[in-house]
Amino acid sequence: MTKINKSDDEWKAILTDEQFNICRKKGTERAFTGEYWKCTGEEGKYLCRACGEALFDSGAKYDSGSGWPSFYKPANDDSVIEINDNSLGMNRVEVVCSKCDSHLGHVFNDGPNPTGLRYCINSASLKFDKEE
Ligand code: FE
Repeated sequence: MTKINKSDDEWKAILTDEQFNICRKKGTERAFTGEYWKCTGEEGKYLCRACGEALFDSGAKYDSGSGWPSFYKPANDDSVIEINDNSLGMNRVEVVCSKCDSHLGHVFNDGPNPTGLRYCINSASLKFDKEE
């Protein structure tokens, strides 16, 4: 896979301030405020907001009650990269886009079957591509 590398100024030119803060500076949107936390039943793909890579499918989306879009698996084995994150005094696993390294959210071990995983993702890191 060809990695995408852009400077902060280049990212700022294509992202809103909130998207830049979350995708490129590892920010977090407040729970229940993002565009995609609700489960609407609409089918399609969730793309990386920064680079357009397909990251998650609607079929793996579920209502975790967390206030963030939640998925039990990524679209493909190589869609995302998982990185140990010990910031803020917590041991978490950060999830980033494998193509552009944008911050997406974190993955936890309290998800539903079949994986038991909860990919807890910022809406601001995603763009929904609805299946027509
Ligand atoms: Fe990306």
